[in-house]
Amino acid sequence: MIDPRTLDPTKTIVVATGNAHKLTEIEAILGAVPALEGLQFVALGELGDFPDPEENGSDFYENALIKASEALWATGLYMAVADDSGLCVDALGGAPGIMSARWAGEHGNDEANNDKMLIEMADVPEDQRTARFHSTVVFLTRDEDGELIRRGDGDVEGTIAYDRKGTNGFGYDPLFKITELGGKRMAELEPEEKNAISHRFHALQDLASKLL
Ligand code: IMP
Repeated sequence: MIDPRTLDPTKTIVVATGNAHKLTEIEAILGAVPALEGLQFVALGELGDFPDPEENGSDFYENALIKASEALWATGLYMAVADDSGLCVDALGGAPGIMSARWAGEHGNDEANNDKMLIEMADVPEDQRTARFHSTVVFLTRDEDGELIRRGDGDVEGTIAYDRKGTNGFGYDPLFKITELGGKRMAELEPEEKNAISHRFHALQDLASKLL
């Protein structure tokens, strides 16, 4: 654990995630942005055992902003990055969307969420099974001079399969057939392959282009 009070708030970006993979992905892309040169990225989970904020926003952007804002409040730092993501299925009117993690009830129960998806989509014909993973990433700075918010958005297009396949990844990856890879499942990709095409990758690139 690092005590946030020992960090220079003008040189530190807190990443509102406990997930080491996300930190690496975010650091790799945003760390290369000239405007952020010399800044250090630190995961919120390394700075203390903070409770997850209630994600009660009405869209991905609001939830990402809630996470970033809470990270600043909890640590006393000035700069934060946070993301919110989910799966949007056309035949379900965009659901589960911001409810993706807790769609079947219990937060983060991937098995139950995938079971529910297979049931809800059981009778939907192939040509109506289009879906996308979406990610919104926000960069928030807040100090005595005021507040600045930048956002980036990204998607990866696909369709929902009739069964599970693949063992990599997490969440809805075993059900998601990636259009640009000829229907290969997200759960069949190695982490580096997924990082190169993912919704988070595209959202981070979009954000990076706005921070130049
Ligand atoms: P979070 O924004 O990382 O908390 O993700 C919210 C939920 O969306 C996750 O719990 C998953 O159910 C779903 N999700 C987000 N990104 C992915 C992904 O890359 N693959 C599979 N499911 C995802």
